[in-house]
Amino acid sequence: MPARVIPLHDARTLQPALPVAAGRSWPPGQAGSVADALGRPLRDLRISVTDRCNFRCGYCMPKQVFGKHHEFLPHAELLNFEEITRLAGVFVGLGVEKLRITGGEPLLRRHLETLIEMLAPLRTPAGRPLDLTLTTNGSMLARKAAALKAAGLQRLTVSLDGLNDAVFQRMNDVGFPVAEVLEGIRAAQAVGLGPIKVNMVVQRGVNDDQILPMARHFRGSGVVLRFIEFMDVGATNGWRMEQVLPSAEVMRRIAAEFPLVPLSSSAPGETAERWAYADGSGEVGFISSVTQAFCGDCNRARLSTEGQLYTCLFATRGHDLRGLLRGAAPVDDGQLSAAVAAVWAGRTDRYSQLRGRGAPTPDGPRRVEMHYIGG
Ligand code: SF4
Repeated sequence: MPARVIPLHDARTLQPALPVAAGRSWPPGQAGSVADALGRPLRDLRISVTDRCNFRCGYCMPKQVFGKHHEFLPHAELLNFEEITRLAGVFVGLGVEKLRITGGEPLLRRHLETLIEMLAPLRTPAGRPLDLTLTTNGSMLARKAAALKAAGLQRLTVSLDGLNDAVFQRMNDVGFPVAEVLEGIRAAQAVGLGPIKVNMVVQRGVNDDQILPMARHFRGSGVVLRFIEFMDVGATNGWRMEQVLPSAEVMRRIAAEFPLVPLSSSAPGETAERWAYADGSGEVGFISSVTQAFCGDCNRARLSTEGQLYTCLFATRGHDLRGLLRGAAPVDDGQLSAAVAAVWAGRTDRYSQLRGRGAPTPDGPRRVEMHYIGG
């Protein structure tokens, strides 16, 4: 049965600007003291720098919906680099220690290196450097890796859903060859943008025959391969539970050939369950939002391309920060912090946990599209 495509609901309808309580200001330096309604701190900010992509992966941006007539956001509506850097500074003041640059495909944003140069000097209130990383489809990595490294990027994650060209091209739906992504990964390794992670979204009956070839290819390469369960993100990818291959099954297939041993998580709120090859030839991970939800310690916020704050990948609405930056009445960083802290403090998101328990997930407008807020 063909995937049911749900007509696109323009989730980008802007929410009214966040209220700024007169005189309410977040004392600078009160790091990490903001926790959400479930006690989860704010540690990780994903910044989407474009809603555009040169791929049309069906699980994220199906071509039937995001075809050649799809209207992307006009450039003037995107946060500019100064606005992104200012907001990032505010989030860091509230406890963020990791910035992930995403999209769409972030390398499509012109002069991205300039933004990275502006973000790299940011420090936590305790003076520590941030963990500055980026997620890319690798299509432009071979020619951009050196400049990204020179600008201050520390590491990156590449999305690659198979090694077989026919399978991969069917999934990216633009005929992009595997070889060029692999060349990009080599270029990134060569300039020291590591540790490099490779994310593979697994869809049963679509690319699960690529699990072992991918494991064989990256084992012993220094690259950490992670398998992601197919998720019901957004409202357009025709998600069905039957297409989800649980991580437990992926792990069973790999362990049958390469015995695995568990590793402890490397940071609070880490999405991947980490395992090592028992023979010491590297690490592999499993991101199981569907069968083993990890909302309990989710410390991730997302900033959309035009300045909406989302507190969950499956959110149905954002909170407009750009309105504060560009509003008639200028706001200072203390007021911005207060506005962000108020949103975070009220956060109760745990979509995957509820989905997992069969509990009714929050109703309302459709979920925001992943390519708009970054995975
Ligand atoms: S579903 Fe939402 S709350 Fe749960 S882990 Fe994902 S982003 Fe976090």
